[in-house]
Amino acid sequence: MLIGVLALQGDFEAHQKAFQELGVPVVQVRQKNQLSLVDGLVIPGGESTTMLKLIHLENLLDPLKDFGLRRPVFGTCAGAILLANEVHHPEQESLGIIDIAVERNAYGRQVHSQVTKVQMSDGTDLEAVFIRAPIIRSVGQGVHILATHTDNPVLVEQGRHLAATFHPELTSDRRLHKRFLDKIRACQG
Ligand code: GLN
Repeated sequence: MLIGVLALQGDFEAHQKAFQELGVPVVQVRQKNQLSLVDGLVIPGGESTTMLKLIHLENLLDPLKDFGLRRPVFGTCAGAILLANEVHHPEQESLGIIDIAVERNAYGRQVHSQVTKVQMSDGTDLEAVFIRAPIIRSVGQGVHILATHTDNPVLVEQGRHLAATFHPELTSDRRLHKRFLDKIRACQG
């Protein structure tokens, strides 16, 4: 198994370390031809507007959309924004891989960034780092909410894909990275 981490901008190295801790090889993806080598792709946190510009510059928009039709993708924070079907505040182009509508920088100035516990649907808590995070304002029918915080979904799953509005790569709990690996294994059959 080989995991790709989109390495155009943002905290891709933290994701790379997280998978390496789990003993899984990772490659930093910057070009279209690398997508054919990987079994799953992480789109990290960072700045979605900048990432989008670089995606266009590298002609990666259609290859990424196409990758999502075949293989699992895990988006965190800015990555979740890029995966969404709809992006608001302001409106922004996205890959449309997960049927969610997100509002960028939605916690406002007061709660710019915070570390807090979120509630998982299995009854456990998960420590979550929010940094200028988006809020998921609506989810489509095929989307499962796996964790919430103050009544908003913060971790969702749709089929083979996963999106978190926080940064699981910045804490030591590896449950979400493991869950993504399980999805890749299921996809490999
Ligand atoms: N605010 C950023 C954006 O809109 C996301 C922040 C993050 O990834 N931590 O793209």
